Amino acid sequence: MKLDLFKKNISKVIDEYILNQRRDQSLHQSRFRASGITDCPRAILFSMMSLPTDKYPRAKNDTAKGYKLMRQGTAIHEIVQEYLEGMGVLKEEDKEKVIKDDEYLFVGHCDGVLTFDEKRVLLEIKTINSNAFKTLTQPKEEHFYQGQAYCYFLDKVFNDHIEDILFLYVDRNTDNLDMKAFWVQRDENVIGMITNKLKVLKEYFTKEEVYSIPPGFSPEIATFNPCNWCPFRTEQLCLSKKTKMSDFPGANIIKKWVFTNTTN
Ligand code: SF4
Repeated sequence: MKLDLFKKNISKVIDEYILNQRRDQSLHQSRFRASGITDCPRAILFSMMSLPTDKYPRAKNDTAKGYKLMRQGTAIHEIVQEYLEGMGVLKEEDKEKVIKDDEYLFVGHCDGVLTFDEKRVLLEIKTINSNAFKTLTQPKEEHFYQGQAYCYFLDKVFNDHIEDILFLYVDRNTDNLDMKAFWVQRDENVIGMITNKLKVLKEYFTKEEVYSIPPGFSPEIATFNPCNWCPFRTEQLCLSKKTKMSDFPGANIIKKWVFTNTTN
C-alpha cells in the first residue's frame, strides 16, 4: 500500500478495502436463516443456491456503508451485553447462542437469554437510526417473527422453554445510546405459521423446485417495494420464471452439500 494513496483519500481506500473483503463471498447459504424468516419464499430459495455476488445486483446494504453499519451494530450489541452481564442477568453460556435445527434446516443466532430469578427471557438487541427509533412503537414485524422462531427452536434444540421476549432497540445515532424496550409473549399461532412456512420451503427445496412469484410481489416493476431491493430480481433469476432449481447455476451442488452436512 502506497502512503500517497492514504494521504489522498483515506476514506475511499478503506471503503475499497471493505468491498474487496467480501468480493469472493456469495449469497449462498445452506439453511433457512431466522433473520430472513419473513422474506419472500422465492427469494429464500434463491438464497439457498450458489450465486456469486459479482454476477448479480447486490442487496441495498451490500455497500461499504452497509458493512460499516453492521460492524457498528455489532459493537453496540457487545456494549449492551457487557452491561447486562455485569448486572448478572446475562450469563456467559447464554450469550450469542447459535441455534441449528436439521429437521427444518433452520439456523439462527440469538443475542442471548436473560435469567431473572426463575424466569428466562429471550434477548434481542436491535440497532436502528434516530428517525426509525423516534417513531418506533412496537417491535418491527421481521424482528417479532425472528424472536418467535428463536423461542420455538431454543425449546426444540436446547430444551430451553421461554415464554417472554425482550426486544431492546438502541438508537445508533445518539451519544447516549438511547434504548426502547418492548416485552412480547411467545405466540404458538405465530410459531405454527413459521414452522409451516419452513416445512413448505423444505419441500420445495427437496423437490428442487423454485417457489412461484407470491401474490402481491411484482419483480417486473422496479419500484415495487418487496422486490425493489431484492438481489434476485434479475433476468437470470426471478424474471427468468424458471421453475426447477437445477436450471440455475450451482443449485445441485448446494443441495448435495446441505444434505451431506445435516445427516452428521
Ligand atoms: S424479485 Fe420479488 S418475487 Fe422475485 S425473489 Fe425477489 S422478492 Fe421474491
